[in-house]
Amino acid sequence: MTTHRKGSLVPESGIYEVIHDKNKHDVQKHEVTCIKGRRFPPCRGCGEDVQFRPIRIAIHIEDHPHFS
Ligand SMILES: [Zn+2]
Repeated sequence: MTTHRKGSLVPESGIYEVIHDKNKHDVQKHEVTCIKGRRFPPCRGCGEDVQFRPIRIAIHIEDHPHFS
């Protein structure tokens, strides 16, 4: 499964699992919503080593033709 790194463009809006660097940042698994066209940010705990994996893609309402 494709993972994305800090600084790369979010390819599709949706829910992403955050994969923290266990050696630097010991936190439980969690998910975030990311918006297409923005950049994946660094983590305050593990910096550049954070990764993001798509769980469920969903078009942002402002980009959807029924609502924009
Ligand atoms: Zn982290």
